[in-house]
Amino acid sequence: VWITLEGGDGSGKTTQSNLLAQWLEDSGRTVVRTREPGGSEVGQLIRDIVLHHRGDIAPRAEALLYAADRAHHVATVVRPALHRGEIVLQDRYLDSSVAYQGAGRVLDATEIRDLSLWAAEGALPDLTILLDLDPAEARTRLDSADKPFDRLEAEQAEFHGRVRDAFLDLAAAEPDRFLVLDAAAAPEVIAERIRTRVAALLD
Ligand code: C5P
Ligand code: MG
Repeated sequence: VWITLEGGDGSGKTTQSNLLAQWLEDSGRTVVRTREPGGSEVGQLIRDIVLHHRGDIAPRAEALLYAADRAHHVATVVRPALHRGEIVLQDRYLDSSVAYQGAGRVLDATEIRDLSLWAAEGALPDLTILLDLDPAEARTRLDSADKPFDRLEAEQAEFHGRVRDAFLDLAAAEPDRFLVLDAAAAPEVIAERIRTRVAALLD
């Protein structure tokens, strides 16, 4: 079973991933926790470029870097784990590419999705949890978190508004794959909703 978490920066993906992983492990399941970009050794190198390069990266080059990370990650981490019967719990997947690389409006969302699906040989998660949050609220959370410089988290509010809308559009287009949750709710309330959905999935 393959579960991905999506949402803007500061929407609480890490918190919910921790809570869900703990719950799954407590019930005796093997959980592989991973992320994109950077879920493999090659991916770590790519992550370093896309997140920490202090200059512009041509939009198509950036899209291809994310796709390269995805191709290697799905082939060497995700598919093997699913084949072993383990639960893959993943922070960000192709929906992030469509939302972020598409939100710059330079690249077409369909092209990015097609590129991702080509990279991943069509692999799609069983469940995608979208933690939806107003970018202004996310900004407040991030400012108080005191994290190291991140090229994209530094983007302007307007960009993050477009990212949010893109995620919601993706969820509306695939209601069966997505669980959309209000990330402004209390973490434990969100966690309980996630557990209910995941329990149904594991039955
Ligand atoms: O969630 P995480 O901290 O791993 O994301 C790192 C950064 O990469 C985030 O700021 C996010 O905005 C950006 N990102 C992106 N396109 C993706 C995945 C992540 O712009 N496909
Ligand atoms: Mg982040």
